[in-house]
Amino acid sequence: MNKNSLNLKINKAIISCKKCRLCKTRIKSVPGEGDINAKIMFVGEAPGRNEDEQGRPFVGRAGDLLSRMLNIINLKREEVWIGNVVKCRPPDNRDPMVDELRNCSCYLEQQIKLVDPKIIVPLGRFALEHFDKKGKISKDHGKARVWRNRILYPIYHPAAALRNSQIAAVLADDFRKIPFLLRSGKIGLENVDAGITSNVADNQISLF
Ligand code: URA
Ligand code: SF4
Repeated sequence: MNKNSLNLKINKAIISCKKCRLCKTRIKSVPGEGDINAKIMFVGEAPGRNEDEQGRPFVGRAGDLLSRMLNIINLKREEVWIGNVVKCRPPDNRDPMVDELRNCSCYLEQQIKLVDPKIIVPLGRFALEHFDKKGKISKDHGKARVWRNRILYPIYHPAAALRNSQIAAVLADDFRKIPFLLRSGKIGLENVDAGITSNVADNQISLF
């Protein structure tokens, strides 16, 4: 099966999925979108109200911020892949439950296999935990590491940045390192910090 048909097949399965209780309260499932050949995938937590209404990821305020940050590093939304660990909205935007994460994570796994990105960027705690059960976003944000032969680069969730200006500044700094990671090889991650430091100077753009 070619990549496009496989993508359609995954999306179809997500749209009609009834594997967990969230299927009862969702308006639309949100499979994710973007370039299925992207070098970089951004993975959020779960859809919010706007996403649930439109069936598209990151289209509310957090999504606006994500789009603006992408813009600053010269990437368009269409050039990357954007999605979530959990594909249906938890009521009142509550945290996803353990069984919801467990039931839904197979879709993200299929999508990672399909897109085969060089870099995966988990946004916030729940996305990070999909890749590293013991991960702590406050400690692990902005640090690149190897995960199954890819680069994993966790950063704060844009919604957290909207609530807290200190987190916003940290998120902006971490985001500016992405172009360096995109240019770097998979191996040689030990040089990431050095490379980034020499790279930020020409990239001093304020996000806010
Ligand atoms: N927050 C998320 O984690 N995902 C979205 O799609 C929107 C907001
Ligand atoms: Fe299925 Fe995931 Fe939606 Fe639950 S959240 S119904 S597992 S697609």
